[in-house]
Amino acid sequence: MVDMNTNEHVVILGAGPAGLATGHELSDSGVKVSVLDRNDFVGGLCNTNEYKGYKFDLGGHRWFSKNEDLNNWFRRLMGDEVVWVNRISRIYYDGGYYLYPISILNVIKNAGILTIMHAGITYLWSALQYSIFDKSINNMRDAYVAQFGGKLYDMFFRRYSEKVWGLPCEKLSSDWVSQRSAGLSIWTVIQESLMKTKSDNESLIEEFMYPRDGYVRIPQRMAEDIVTKGGPDSVVLGSTVTGIKYIGPNDFEIVYRKQDGEEYSIKATTVVSTIPLGLLPRIMEPACDQKVIDAAKGLSFRALITVNVILKKKRVSIDTWLYVQDEDILFGRLHEPKNWSPAMIPDQSTTSLVLECFCTKDDHIWNMTDEEVGQQCIEDLEKKLKFIDSSEVIDFSCVRTLQAYPVYDLEYAGKIALINDFLGQFEGLHIVGRGGTHRYNNADHSIEMGLLLGRKILGYDVDHMDVNTEPEYQEIKRSNDSKRDAYKLEGEREK
Ligand SMILES: Cc1cc2nc3c(=O)[nH]c(=O)nc-3n(C[C@H](O)[C@H](O)[C@H](O)COP(=O)(O)OP(=O)(O)OC[C@H]3O[C@@H](n4cnc5c(N)ncnc54)[C@H](O)[C@@H]3O)c2cc1C
Repeated sequence: MVDMNTNEHVVILGAGPAGLATGHELSDSGVKVSVLDRNDFVGGLCNTNEYKGYKFDLGGHRWFSKNEDLNNWFRRLMGDEVVWVNRISRIYYDGGYYLYPISILNVIKNAGILTIMHAGITYLWSALQYSIFDKSINNMRDAYVAQFGGKLYDMFFRRYSEKVWGLPCEKLSSDWVSQRSAGLSIWTVIQESLMKTKSDNESLIEEFMYPRDGYVRIPQRMAEDIVTKGGPDSVVLGSTVTGIKYIGPNDFEIVYRKQDGEEYSIKATTVVSTIPLGLLPRIMEPACDQKVIDAAKGLSFRALITVNVILKKKRVSIDTWLYVQDEDILFGRLHEPKNWSPAMIPDQSTTSLVLECFCTKDDHIWNMTDEEVGQQCIEDLEKKLKFIDSSEVIDFSCVRTLQAYPVYDLEYAGKIALINDFLGQFEGLHIVGRGGTHRYNNADHSIEMGLLLGRKILGYDVDHMDVNTEPEYQEIKRSNDSKRDAYKLEGEREK
């Protein structure tokens, strides 16, 4: 347990959900924290941009966790700012709209009985290969085919995955599938869609919580509490961390650069890093060897350009999300913020859309100008999806994000192991979060990890690295889901 009378000072690198959650948990117990972020706003990927009074998340972010203690923590944090959103997600595939999660009846209606028979045969074939003859799963394609069969993989997973990652599924790790959809059996899909027998204890989620004024309110609320407890200097923005000197156990000096180019340093007894795992070892002193540098350089991210469009039209779609598979459409996903919360737009006779274009720094999409990306998306909306008339567009703006999706290539796990081995020598240094651990976290995972790390630093026997490793589909909720006893109100806590 941390002794509050010592000079314990935890410096947290990154004011995204993970860093702020660690800071929230620690400052709540009276520990001095300083959260540094290179941006001049808190929230990281959970930012909500405002343009002409319209609010746009960086791609639609919903709140969903299977951990009821975490949901209770979330409700306490957000108070009366929470709204419930009905979820309607669809996939646009070869000119047709399919429900997501997949519904067999809907596939029959859209694609015909022959397609569903084809899907059934390929499913049985893969069940034979992977379940009975134990064929090995070596990559993302194998993992999807083993779960859904070749035809459904080809229809609903191949093209979208390749659009998101910019690589063939054969070159991506199967881990992503096991983290996102392991445990989602074809039988759950059939049961859900054919019989609609949603028993009380198991169902694919159909509504979720959302902060009324945009997802950034979650990190903002955490930052507000940290500043209330620790003062204005406990969250330091516009500060890029450029070096971490390890002087000895629980003795660090962090070097950071402000936006005016001035360098500063700050002492820390504990360092919590949410900055990319591919960067951290390269700014540590003593320095790492070439093998670790190579591993770190090999951890890559997919980038994202979000096109935020304002429209002179009451509503475009009923969807919470629309996943767009077709390669000839520039964006891969869209959402209409008004369908999540009317407070996202200032004038209810208008609406807005967020279109997500997945890319890699310096590829042909990234190298397009904002004007070109925006115009191309508007043309696709008008001519291919037939969602709008271009004369209805009032304005648009683009937001570019470099480190949006941690890539799981076939060698990523070995690279992470090598880096973690190197970092293990620095007593008092912890990694957490999505980029911080190079793990495909949702915001709730990053927050849960952050809260648990806070408690670990406080001396509780918990391991934040266990979060987001459960081999079960994240969207199935059961009444007997385990509850982690970690987020109770102060007075209720037990060690
Ligand atoms: C398009 C999209 C849609 C998503 N939808 C959902 C959703 O529906 N639901 C959901 O739960 N999650 C969703 N997510 C995931 C969610 O955004 C992330 O899980 C979450 O933001 C991760 O939080 P984090 O703190 O771990 O990392 P980040 O949000 O990446 O925060 C890391 C912080 O570190 C800072 N930083 C990096 N380097 C430095 C440096 N050198 N010095 C100082 N600061 C630095 C960054 O500026 C950033 O603020 C989505 C993500 C994307 C991209």
